[in-house]
Amino acid sequence: MLVRSDLNVPLEGGRIADDTRIRASLPTLRLLLERGVEEATVCSHLGRPKGQDPAFSMRPVEEQLRELLPDERLRVLENTRFNPGETTNDPAFAQELADLNDLFVQDAFGSVHRAHASTVGVTRFLPAYAGLLLEKELTELGKLLGDVERPFVLISGGAKVEDKLGVLRNLGGKADSVLVGGKMAEEIRGNNPLPFDVVLPTDVVAASAFAEDAETKVTPYDALPDGWLGLDIGPQTREDFAARIDEARTIFWNGPMGVFEWPRFAEGTTAVAEAVASSDAYSVVGGADSARALTELGLDDDVSWLSTGGGAALEFLEGKELPGVAAIPDS
Ligand code: ADP
Ligand code: MG
Repeated sequence: MLVRSDLNVPLEGGRIADDTRIRASLPTLRLLLERGVEEATVCSHLGRPKGQDPAFSMRPVEEQLRELLPDERLRVLENTRFNPGETTNDPAFAQELADLNDLFVQDAFGSVHRAHASTVGVTRFLPAYAGLLLEKELTELGKLLGDVERPFVLISGGAKVEDKLGVLRNLGGKADSVLVGGKMAEEIRGNNPLPFDVVLPTDVVAASAFAEDAETKVTPYDALPDGWLGLDIGPQTREDFAARIDEARTIFWNGPMGVFEWPRFAEGTTAVAEAVASSDAYSVVGGADSARALTELGLDDDVSWLSTGGGAALEFLEGKELPGVAAIPDS
């Protein structure tokens, strides 16, 4: 059995900084082993290596996986992106992956928005099935695309504005309120490209420069001095956003409210994370940095679903077809 997992974990100095994705891949592997698979060959990409760069070797990931799930029937292939045929979806590489396997299980939700050899190509050579994580992600995120319990509150922040606007275009129209922070707020302020109103911050933590030790002050958004940047939502906005989140019955949050990596600009993200976590609404959090913020606060178990998907989750919520899902018959 060939299993495409999403083992694309963040690395820091050659070590795994966060093994959430490895853990999320375990239920499918466990099930296959319990059902008596002869051999499960797991493959994944890791980072964006240029050629066969040992800094992106899968070996530390394999070690961690083996520690969590010791079973000699597991085999972990080297980084699929070490082969140039991965991203070009080269049939020769897809066939090489398929070789010696009878079935293909796609469980890498975080990669199904890419038409690569290990996500789409292999399905030409092997019967393909969805794994448990892929199925769960599509089910949970899919709830946001259907009828939702109201009020439906959408919270959007972070820095990748274009990706996020796509989700807002698709989902924002049916939300009861759309709360916007982060760099998103700066982009939308004064020039909202969306066909509906959004709730922008009334106050911000302003910084004299984009630096951790910059001079800061809390100001109304309208009074942001020339050349200063709003690097977090202010205390009034935190309260307003938390109050709206408290009333919600459905929540989707993607994108931090400020530069949360620097503690002085993390309070907005913390306030939103705490409000989402303490709500008993159906709550979904997507995006790698949002997930990290939530996990660092120890609140990752307090939301209904924390997506491992990053870009794939956003594309799915934008309403786009995911090539790696479309390639699975009956999916
Ligand atoms: P996600 O990974 O959750 O989808 P993004 O990658 O879009 O979110 O954005 C996360 C990044 O946005 C963080 O590194 C954070 O520092 C940055 N960010 C948040 N608010 C601001 C801001 N006001 N100005 C600049 N960068 C910001
Ligand atoms: Mg990010």
